[in-house]
Amino acid sequence: MASGTVETARRRALVVGCGMAGCAAAWWLEHEGWEVVLVDKEAEPYPSSYLLQLDAQATRVLRLMGGQEIIDEVTFAAPAMSVRWGTRKVRELKLDGDSDWRLARRSVLLSRLFAHLPSTVQKRLGVGLEALEHRSDDVLARFSDGSSESFDVVVGADGLHSTVRRLTLASEAHSVYRNGLTHVWINADVPLPDGRAVIASREGMLSLIYPFLDTDQTSVMAVVPVPGSTTPDEPMLVEQVCDMVERLGPDMRAVAAEARKSEDTKLTRFSQVRLPRWYTRRVVLLGDSAHCIDPVSGMGAHASLPGAKVLAESLRDTDDVTLAFARFEAEIRPFAKTAQSITARTVEFSTRAEGRNRAATLAGGIGDLLATIPATLTRHSNRRKTPFGAEPSRPKQITKL
Ligand SMILES: Cc1cc2nc3c(=O)[nH]c(=O)nc-3n(C[C@H](O)[C@H](O)[C@H](O)COP(=O)(O)OP(=O)(O)OC[C@H]3O[C@@H](n4cnc5c(N)ncnc54)[C@H](O)[C@@H]3O)c2cc1C
Repeated sequence: MASGTVETARRRALVVGCGMAGCAAAWWLEHEGWEVVLVDKEAEPYPSSYLLQLDAQATRVLRLMGGQEIIDEVTFAAPAMSVRWGTRKVRELKLDGDSDWRLARRSVLLSRLFAHLPSTVQKRLGVGLEALEHRSDDVLARFSDGSSESFDVVVGADGLHSTVRRLTLASEAHSVYRNGLTHVWINADVPLPDGRAVIASREGMLSLIYPFLDTDQTSVMAVVPVPGSTTPDEPMLVEQVCDMVERLGPDMRAVAAEARKSEDTKLTRFSQVRLPRWYTRRVVLLGDSAHCIDPVSGMGAHASLPGAKVLAESLRDTDDVTLAFARFEAEIRPFAKTAQSITARTVEFSTRAEGRNRAATLAGGIGDLLATIPATLTRHSNRRKTPFGAEPSRPKQITKL
């Protein structure tokens, strides 16, 4: 380089995982002027067609990303719902839907989000991250195809079983909280009567029954206690859930009957990622890898889409990546902590024995809520500084002399 000339280099970011968090991080970092490489270990990363929920914040951030067409074409307004609980006498509460809360098939929504990424984002599918080496000025990443490359930052958006988390912060055994509950997912080929979602707590199970509004299908998801030492027997659990759905009322009989015939079923385990810190050196976790709340919360998208925006904007304000990561975590952690606490209490309340234990769980839940009020207030005052809803602004580049 001739003396006195100034070379402007774009900062390089590796985003690991192209789920909701990884796609959003790639979009926002590119928007902030970063050179972005996005990898996913799967050649076809969106196999499951179960429902994913976007809350109002996540929907707003997707809109800011120019995703109005995606919202219009592949998501639908969360339906009205009925909440049913009790066994002897079923009590029911009817709630209106909210048009800013959207539902979508995960596979369809994420494929569209991936296709929406600018062509300047380098996308490599079927390439897994395998190792990271921290160096003084960068971090070296090694991939499953034998290649290696250096980056200014690495964003671990690689989900619940995160490799980035395992390589840098904690093993799965030390970061994933499990409570012995299993999710049973069933897609049934029948429309839900009157299109109203049903949330029910009955027979020691919590169930969420939602219509797929793009087809005449119904999604049944139930949280069922399975002792840790037992290997889950999928057909038996599916049968148990269908029996319970049938007993929710005459309107649920057709759903139960079709659910029994379904071959589109899967089991996953209730899991929450609980970590004291989400970053180290030049590496930061985003989305489920940092704070999986559990799909039953319906909040997985929340901290992924707004979280990606906050992360990219925190990095805009400084070249000190550690400071930027700390700001990002301070902004997002209160929400994740509150959502985890409420979700864990809700499933405990809905799947435990009746009587005093349930009352104690409910009292504990109220305690959790009260304890999170100071954190929520802090988050709201932080949001005034970096609002989720603010219009995107333009990039900063680093200057190398
Ligand atoms: C297959 C699947 C199905 C799901 N289905 C539902 C559902 O139906 N409903 C629901 O509410 N939630 C579901 N979830 C969870 C939901 O997607 C998340 O809670 C939320 O969208 C936040 O996503 P995320 O981007 O943080 O993580 P994820 O959506 O889990 O994405 C992580 C990505 O990282 C990739 N990855 C993992 N390890 C590596 C590595 N070493 N190198 C490169 N890439 C890697 C994975 O292939 C994956 O594409 C599902 C997750 C997965 C992985």
